[in-house]
Amino acid sequence: MAAAPFDIPILGDPAEHPIPALKPDAMAASKPYLAAEAHQQPLGFPGELTEGWEKRAVEHMGSLVSKYRSLQVYMDICVKCGACTDKCHYFLGTHDPKNMPVARADLFRSVYRRYFTPAGKMAPGLVGARDMTKDVLDEWFNYFHQCSQCRRCSVFCPYGIDTAEISMAARDIMDSIGQGQKYCNEIIGKVHKIGNNLGLPAPALIDTLEGLEEDMLDETGVAVKMPIDVEGAEVLLVTPSADFFAEPHVLGLMGYAKVFHAAGVSWTLSTKASEAGNFGMFIGNYDQMKKISMRIREAARELGVKRIIFGECGHAWRVAYSFLNTLAGPWDFLDPRYPVPQHILEFTNDLITRKGIKLDKSGNDGMVLTVHDSCNVARGARMGDKPGGQFTIPRAVIQASVPKFVDMHPDTICDKTFCCGGGGGLLTDELIELRVKGASPRMEALKDVVDKEGVTHMAAMCAICKAQFTKILPYYDFDREMVVSVHQLVSNAIVLGDND
Ligand code: SF4
Ligand code: SF4
Ligand code: SF4
Repeated sequence: MAAAPFDIPILGDPAEHPIPALKPDAMAASKPYLAAEAHQQPLGFPGELTEGWEKRAVEHMGSLVSKYRSLQVYMDICVKCGACTDKCHYFLGTHDPKNMPVARADLFRSVYRRYFTPAGKMAPGLVGARDMTKDVLDEWFNYFHQCSQCRRCSVFCPYGIDTAEISMAARDIMDSIGQGQKYCNEIIGKVHKIGNNLGLPAPALIDTLEGLEEDMLDETGVAVKMPIDVEGAEVLLVTPSADFFAEPHVLGLMGYAKVFHAAGVSWTLSTKASEAGNFGMFIGNYDQMKKISMRIREAARELGVKRIIFGECGHAWRVAYSFLNTLAGPWDFLDPRYPVPQHILEFTNDLITRKGIKLDKSGNDGMVLTVHDSCNVARGARMGDKPGGQFTIPRAVIQASVPKFVDMHPDTICDKTFCCGGGGGLLTDELIELRVKGASPRMEALKDVVDKEGVTHMAAMCAICKAQFTKILPYYDFDREMVVSVHQLVSNAIVLGDND
């Protein structure tokens, strides 16, 4: 590929984590495109900053800290111990001290102090309190869009301060005064208007699914279906729209279809809920999260399904697992024998455990797998009925499907996993330098197992992770096809047609 117009981090040993030499303001110019009026207004946000925005921003901050007790606690209890400083992939990749989680949170905290603490009101200079000004807002816009809301810092903070939540609140405030981010808001607009992040209209979606059915018939000789809008199906599958579109996502979608087929479970997709992703979380806006989630409820009711299963999408699973009931419940019209919602990996793993499907590892001959724990799954949700199921279940499914599996360095997996570098609404081309640099801790751990263990592929269970890796792997001299869907591995291994 052409040389990048920025330095690519040199990959070291994942066992050693020296605190990098600081490069102040290295990423001061990195920012996403500002949302235009056309992206703001459909979501009910002002189209631009207007007179008095400073006061409205402070008022909105006040409403958030009084509504969300955790946010106020995070503002008040940081003791500047420094435990989080070298835990963020964006700091490790860019060396910009403002990408230390504590420094990022301080961008918010300095304004909070000015308006909501006695010391900040009386002697702002003594306590690092700042007025809400255009310079401060610009700094917010740039650096709160250098946080993928991955929560890694919170795992290492002795007080559990969650900078992801602070970053969501900052983005919510910015939207409320007309300083939104184009990428996220444009996508949310597409979900409301067309039904999914890709803006794929129903006829195109139906065509795509028919094409995939033909592909699977050619490949396997078995008529595996991709049903859509089928009333009375048992399962509604809600999956990221990337699964309808590009590899490796679409190969995972074929895997889900084969699992349903082999298990003899009736299922359907929905044109109304043709997107699992919920970018309302990235912009920290509860109303948008709720509106996006309600489509799933409406689709489930209209189709009369008994259960809802989510496809491979990290943040969608976090929203579903952690908030779906409060956003769109109660789900008392579904079959109470099943958890609401379920993850496709839970469903497949259960079938594997009960011998409800058969897998032949030779379908993945020659592949040596590792897995990237998507942080929204690892630190924002769970799977199964045992603690840590979000780590053991994906590994169990992969290990049942491939001849050899190797984990990456223990400091980079499970609840310590590093973000792919493109999550939290940052998967946009103008942030490519941030994305490439932010991916370096994950690339370091990957290179380690490639060199030492002969790993050939890395599985991911999140549409954004897969899209991000496909794009940035070549910057580190890896093949973009090295990243695979977990259900792509299942798809290659599953034995169709002779199950009991
Ligand atoms: S949430 Fe993740 S991206 Fe944001 S500051 Fe913490 S470690 Fe960095
Ligand atoms: S680890 Fe927690 S308390 Fe320590 S500096 Fe970071 S946010 Fe503050
Ligand atoms: S894209 Fe993947 S790794 Fe990155 S924040 Fe989302 S779930 Fe985490």
